[in-house]
Amino acid sequence: MDAIQVDGLTKEFDTVTAVDELSFAVEQGEVFGLLGPNGAGKSTLINMLVTLLGPTAGTAWVNGHDIRDETGDVRDSLGIVFQEPAVDEELTGAENLAFHARMYSKRKAEREERIPEVLELVDLADEADNKVASYSGGMQRRLEIGRGLMHKPEVLFLDEPTTGLDARTRRDTWEYIQRLNEESGVTIIITTHYMDEADFLCERVAIMDQGEIVAVDSPEGLKDSLGGDVVTLGLNGPANEFVDRLDDRPWVRERDRTDEEVAITLEHGSTRVVDLVRLADETETTITSVDLEKPSLENVFLSLTGSTLTEREADEPSTESASHEQSSRTARARQ
Ligand code: ADP
Ligand code: MG
Repeated sequence: MDAIQVDGLTKEFDTVTAVDELSFAVEQGEVFGLLGPNGAGKSTLINMLVTLLGPTAGTAWVNGHDIRDETGDVRDSLGIVFQEPAVDEELTGAENLAFHARMYSKRKAEREERIPEVLELVDLADEADNKVASYSGGMQRRLEIGRGLMHKPEVLFLDEPTTGLDARTRRDTWEYIQRLNEESGVTIIITTHYMDEADFLCERVAIMDQGEIVAVDSPEGLKDSLGGDVVTLGLNGPANEFVDRLDDRPWVRERDRTDEEVAITLEHGSTRVVDLVRLADETETTITSVDLEKPSLENVFLSLTGSTLTEREADEPSTESASHEQSSRTARARQ
């Protein structure tokens, strides 16, 4: 049985289809990523899978339980760490877990046994009796993950787990999540708008854009599908002739032009740089910089959607919830 099976799942709000007839499956024990810009529909999808939001159409099964009419069983089998921080800073780590366990109405004896286990699992045993206000951003995130693990779920959902953390703490958190998956075998569904995060952490990644999944594969498979390296040339001036003539070259798979640069997808990029410079010379084009990259998930996103993730984020109108997210992120970043 798959940990998650999604079938035609759809959510419409007044003016947008946030999740548009998605179908995919997540295997047990997998670390599965939903990668897409802000507004792609990741949180809406997760909120339906954890039964906080009802679908407009379609359904999904979590550990075999239908999200439409087996909400109790679905909730018992999963843990969730929300995009917004959800621990109480005035309580200690242990108190936060106890509070959460009471909400799940676990028996007291069971609770008392589980709390130290979980604190151990999230590397916070030594901090159990300190107030969360004294924790670093990374420690708070681990405590939130611990909260999600209290009732021994088979599936753990992490919505944007490292947003607002500094680079070093993000890296530590990735390593922690990976270790958790290896050691406990829990299936992990993670949403992110960071390509490097999806690339590092996930066995498979679903690329989401505007409510749809545009591709699902391993990060390597997605990158290989581009069939080439990317050479990015900084351009000074119009460079129209240069770009037109590029299109005639059989070894150019694809090219994407912005005002200041052109990104060219081609095989064996390093051996073609010379040809590119020669072509620039012939067309009296000034190249201001040359950058050779092996494909990244950003390139995959660009090739599938026609925009970069960053451009998509800039397009997204800021909503009330987005500004709320921003303020809580800032609050966490200050820790
Ligand atoms: P992501 O988590 O990928 O950033 P969301 O699932 O939060 O994306 O949002 C997807 C789309 O649905 C966005 O256009 C967002 O504005 C819209 N949306 C999300 N929640 C609501 C809601 N409660 N009411 C109306 N529109 C919403
Ligand atoms: Mg979100």
